[in-house]
Amino acid sequence: MAAVTATGVGKDYGTSTVLNEVSFTVPEGKCVALIGHNGAGKTTLMKLILGLIRPTRGRIEVLGENPAVAAAPFRAKVGFLPENVAFHDQMTGYDTLRFFAELKSASTGEVQDLLARVGLTRAAGQKVRTYSKGMRQRLGLAQALLGKPRLMLLDEPTTGLDPVLRTEFFEIIRGLTSAGTTVVLSSHILTELEARTDIAAIMREGQLVAFGDLETLRQQAGLPAMVRARGNAAALAAKLNGAFVKTVAPAADYVDVECALPRKMDLLRTLTGFADLCTDVEVRLPTLDDLYVHFSGRSIDAGAKDNAP
Ligand code: ATP
Repeated sequence: MAAVTATGVGKDYGTSTVLNEVSFTVPEGKCVALIGHNGAGKTTLMKLILGLIRPTRGRIEVLGENPAVAAAPFRAKVGFLPENVAFHDQMTGYDTLRFFAELKSASTGEVQDLLARVGLTRAAGQKVRTYSKGMRQRLGLAQALLGKPRLMLLDEPTTGLDPVLRTEFFEIIRGLTSAGTTVVLSSHILTELEARTDIAAIMREGQLVAFGDLETLRQQAGLPAMVRARGNAAALAAKLNGAFVKTVAPAADYVDVECALPRKMDLLRTLTGFADLCTDVEVRLPTLDDLYVHFSGRSIDAGAKDNAP
């Protein structure tokens, strides 16, 4: 069964359309990254998936149900970490999680296990007021994991985390998806998503402009690979010029060759044949950043980039 299916979904607030014609299917057990500039509609889409708001047009189905009308058992299957998670500062981490477990009718027996899973066992007895940003985010993640949800929605979960915590966070996410949980998260930091998510969903001004794994998006975009061949640059350039899409002027000891992705192996074979001229090769495939610029027609918000470590 698909975890989420959206068909022609639109959302208006008064006369302003904030989502339009959004259609996609998320298979169970995948990690999807929602990417888009500020105001692109990521949080709105998450709210629709959670059933907190209803679409103005189209249909959304989550774990086989309409989230806007589904009853309590459905809610237990979906975990949510909001962008700005707020806790009661005077409560300890342990009491906070127990409180949420009771609210969600989840087993309080899970609390210790979850604290261990997010690395908060030692801090469990401390008041949340003493927690760092990273500890709060991990407590938020533990809260979202209560009740062993089949779908997790995480709104900018890594904002404010240092690189080590980010890595640990994605390790937890990988563990979840390996066990079959579906994760949908939003982020502005494309470099951290590239190797860590299965599907990228690129949004622009309320529209879904690309949806798929990196390989599929690379093929759809038709962006070239960049191959840097080191060695006798002038001789390599003379041999390669015209044979591939574009050979860039040689530098002192290397030549950069732009090559259509389907021809990458041809180029590498050709270079291997010039063993006396070519001493090394580096291949650079289009990154998620490149794909984002291609599909959305803009680079990710400069302000958001400032949040990157
Ligand atoms: P960010 O990256 O800044 O969190 P986002 O992609 O999550 O942005 P949304 O919060 O979904 O964007 O907002 C999309 C658009 O919808 C924005 O223009 C926002 O002002 C508008 N919007 C969101 N909620 C409402 C509302 N309740 N009433 C009117 N407009 C709204």
